[in-house]
This record gives sequence, structure tokens and C-alpha cells, in this order.
Amino acid sequence: MTNFVTHLECSLTGKIYESGKVHGLSEAGRPLLVRYDLDRMRAELRKEDIANSKANGFWRYAPMLPVTKPESRISLGEVMTPLMPLHASAEKLGGKAGHIIVKDEGRLPTGSFKARGLALAVSMAHEFGLDHLAIPTNGNAGAAMAAYARQAGMRATVFCPSDTPDINIREIQLQGADTYLVNGLINDCGKIVGEGKDAVGWFDISTLKEPYRIEGKKTMGLELAEQLGWTLPDVIFYPTGGGTGLIGMWKAFAELKALGWISGKMPRMIAVQAEGCAPIVKAFQDGEEHAPLWQDAHTVAAGIRVPIAVGDFLILRAVRESGGTAISVSDDHIMSVRDNIASDDGILLCPEGAATAAAYQLAIETGDVKPDEKAILFNCATGLKYPMPAVISPLDKDQPIDYSRFQN
Ligand SMILES: *Cc1c(COP(=O)(O)O)cnc(C)c1O
Repeated sequence: MTNFVTHLECSLTGKIYESGKVHGLSEAGRPLLVRYDLDRMRAELRKEDIANSKANGFWRYAPMLPVTKPESRISLGEVMTPLMPLHASAEKLGGKAGHIIVKDEGRLPTGSFKARGLALAVSMAHEFGLDHLAIPTNGNAGAAMAAYARQAGMRATVFCPSDTPDINIREIQLQGADTYLVNGLINDCGKIVGEGKDAVGWFDISTLKEPYRIEGKKTMGLELAEQLGWTLPDVIFYPTGGGTGLIGMWKAFAELKALGWISGKMPRMIAVQAEGCAPIVKAFQDGEEHAPLWQDAHTVAAGIRVPIAVGDFLILRAVRESGGTAISVSDDHIMSVRDNIASDDGILLCPEGAATAAAYQLAIETGDVKPDEKAILFNCATGLKYPMPAVISPLDKDQPIDYSRFQN
């Protein structure tokens, strides 16, 4: 099988790079984007071919992805993640029941949407014959990398900030990665991975520092369009760390438009960050093209605690081109929204996913979003990986039970 890839392109300078070879960042130190022959794809690939695919989850989009050989695809049983409309909790957020829709990425292998990006990056690394991958992580990326790398028989080395949620650190180690706790933030971990490249010979699979995680995250946009009958929503709220998903979805929509599979207005992309770490929001508000390092980054939403992003300008471009905005939310707001949606609608979001719901509420208040617009909230990981309030209702089986207490 061949595919439709023509070349790679520096996202900053447009300089062209040959496909079919191992690449990291461009010479300008910026992400490389995979380019396809979209005219040929338009002529040779039909929506029905995708609909009839027998592949698991996002591998149904393999013809629109860079992996050349089917046997290079590393799979852990991916699924198409469900779209779940909020009902009871929608009104509390200021919207209308059924118009706020959660895309629950927590159903993917390793419990987060990192599976999409890492499945692609690991499969490409496998195709190129690489045998040792290293990554800095706030948790979920390391878990996905470890799982897919071990499935492919590759060695995995993972560096986490020492205050990464314990469950993430443990799952990474248990899934076969050499796992290290670093007394710093994710950018400090990234520095170690970068500096170790020559000494150790591992491949740096950090966010946006190789070309293929974006392509994996692109499948969120393809899948969303397919699930909505090849239409797109009015707005998309995305919890933004390194921004891979936001950049990837925006790329997906541009490619779908070029294929003629979608038409009409593109969704407004809304980048959501936490008040304690909001470099993209600040740069957006200041009219800047880049987002400098955020000092003293802190938030309960560990997945979006990313003080500096190598693809900052790509995130900001997508947000601006789409007519979207960038919104920061407080940790208290995140946690109260998580608790309300869980108890009102039975949908347990992770804190980063809850941040999108909190941002939705603020966007309704400012009028940036109207209550009857179709809004997608990305729940990026399973809520089960995060701390939850304690239960304190003991019941003594040896005492007479007053059953009236259960009535209301
Ligand atoms: C990685 C991650 C994010 C941020 O995703 P990016 O595409 O890197 O911006 C948000 N939430 C969770 C739970 C994550 O693991």
C-alpha cells in the first residue's frame, strides 16, 4: 500500500522536507506538518470507503494518515469515542439541553486522547525501525507512549514532574517504561529528553517535536465530522496544553474542506487554559503571535499545565483564523463544574475536560457563545484517573436500619 503523503513542511518557514525519513523539528526549530496530495485523495478516496472500513477506531482514517504499511499500525483496540449531550447540567452552564455535547476521549486505550497522537507517532517510529523512544509527560502522554511502544516491542523512557498524579506515574511504569520523577515541570523534563538524544540514542517523541502526533490528533477532527454526518459544530472547546489536538483538528478541517467532504462555516476554536497556567490566553489577549514561558505554573488540571509550547503560534493562528477565542478558568470553577456534571448527568469528566465546561459557562456570560449553538466539549481523559471527594456515610449492618432515611 502506498499513501497520499507528498512531503513535510516547516510550519513556520514553509521549507519542504522529504517524507519517508526520520524527522524531528525543522531547522527553524518548529513543528513539521505532513502534506498530502489532496487532489489525488479527492479522486481516489470516498467517504463511503471510510464508512465501510473494518479497522478499529481512528485507524479507519488510515488512508488519510502517514503510515504506509498496514502492519506498521500499532493498535490497542481503539474505539470511536461517543458524543454525549449534556441534559440536566446544560442549563446550569447557561446553555440548552442537548446543545452542549461532550466528546468522551476517556474511552480510548490508556484512558486519554493521548492514545491518538502516540499511536501514530509510535507506529511511524516502528515503520522507521526506531527502537527506543523517550518523552517528557504530565502523565497521559507517557502512559500512551509506554503502552504503544511496548505493544510494538520498543523501549520506552519517560520523565515526569515529580508531582505528576500518582496513578499516571504508576501506570506508566507498569506499562513497561523506565520511569523517572524530575524535580521540575514538563519543560524541564523535555530538556532532559532533548539533551540525552546524542548520548543515549533515544528518539524524542515530545509534543510537536516529531511530525506525527499532530496527524494522530487530527483524527479527532475527522471522527467528529463523520459522527456529525460530515458537518461541523458551531464551536469547539479544547483544553490546551501543547495544543496538538487543536492544531490537528484545524488541519483536519482544512483537509476535509479541500476534499469537498465538508462545506460551509468552520467551527470557532476555543482554547481553554487554567488561570494558573494560561500562556496562550495571555498571548491571544495581547495580540501576540508567540506565548512566552508562564512563570510558576500551577493548576489541578495537570494535563494543561504546560508553561511553554513549541507550537504556540499554530494554536494562536487556528484560534484567530477560526474566529474563536481563548479563555482561562479557575481551579475552583473547574472542580465545581466537574462535580455538578457528574451528579446531574452521570458523566464523570477529568479536570481538563471540566475546564472546557467551565469555559463554556464563561463564554455564555460574555456572549461569545449563544445558548442554542452546537458546542463540543473535549473530555480528554477518563475522570477515573483523578482524585474524587471521599464518601462519608457509614451504615452499621448490626443495628436496626431506619429505611425511611433512603426515601429522600
Ligand atoms: C495532554 C492533555 C491535554 C492537552 O492536550 P494538548 O493537545 O497537548 O494541548 C489536556 N488534558 C489532558 C488530560 C491531557 O492529557
